[in-house]
Amino acid sequence: MKDTFRYQGLRKRLVSELAAAGIKDKKVLDAIEKIPRHYFMDSTFEEDAYENKPFPIGRGQTISNPYTVAYQTELLELKEGDKVLEIGTGSGYQAAVLAELKAKVYSIERHQPLSDQAKKVLEFAGYGDVQAFFGDGFAGLPLEAPFDKILITAAAPEIPNQLLQQLKINGVIIIPFGEGDRQQMIRIKRLGNSDYEKETFDYFTFVPMLKGVQD
Ligand code: SAH
Repeated sequence: MKDTFRYQGLRKRLVSELAAAGIKDKKVLDAIEKIPRHYFMDSTFEEDAYENKPFPIGRGQTISNPYTVAYQTELLELKEGDKVLEIGTGSGYQAAVLAELKAKVYSIERHQPLSDQAKKVLEFAGYGDVQAFFGDGFAGLPLEAPFDKILITAAAPEIPNQLLQQLKINGVIIIPFGEGDRQQMIRIKRLGNSDYEKETFDYFTFVPMLKGVQD
């Protein structure tokens, strides 16, 4: 795998499309401009990696489209050094974006082969500090908790209580909430031990967040 001037040019174009679509956070746009998304995709689709589209990554899963990645990342309002838990490593691309923004990234994936592949490509792309785990995201990572931020990248049929418990006070969790064809993006901030504040945002379409693991 290699990066090329052509791909760098296509990323510039993609980033201006994302800005035109409403993404404002310059750091998020810079991260997307920098990271070779095609590294995280099957070579079959490599030529189209800088289209604003999702692509298959195996096991019936997809790499999210760049607008969705940018939107979710912007909602996180990351600060340097934030401890972030991602649910649904998938290709590893979103984890790379978080790492590029200088977060300390933990990520969980329920499909063993996807988790293994993501670890390899993250290392190759220079994001070997990301800690990728094979497991069920509904349980979170109790041993590493609490987190400043939690990002769910699959459609959650419910608000996972164990994840709320793993947030720091003033921590936030982003959840594509709901089943079926579309999910509403919600952001929940933990204000106190059992005091939470919820905001709602736009609708998106995600693959489902499922219980248990698949090896
Ligand atoms: N963030 C990914 C998007 C992958 S799609 C990327 O940048 O490529 C969502 C992923 O969530 C899929 O790989 C799916 O297998 C995973 N997933 C679904 N339910 C899960 C769960 N309970 N725990 C961990 N991962 C889960």
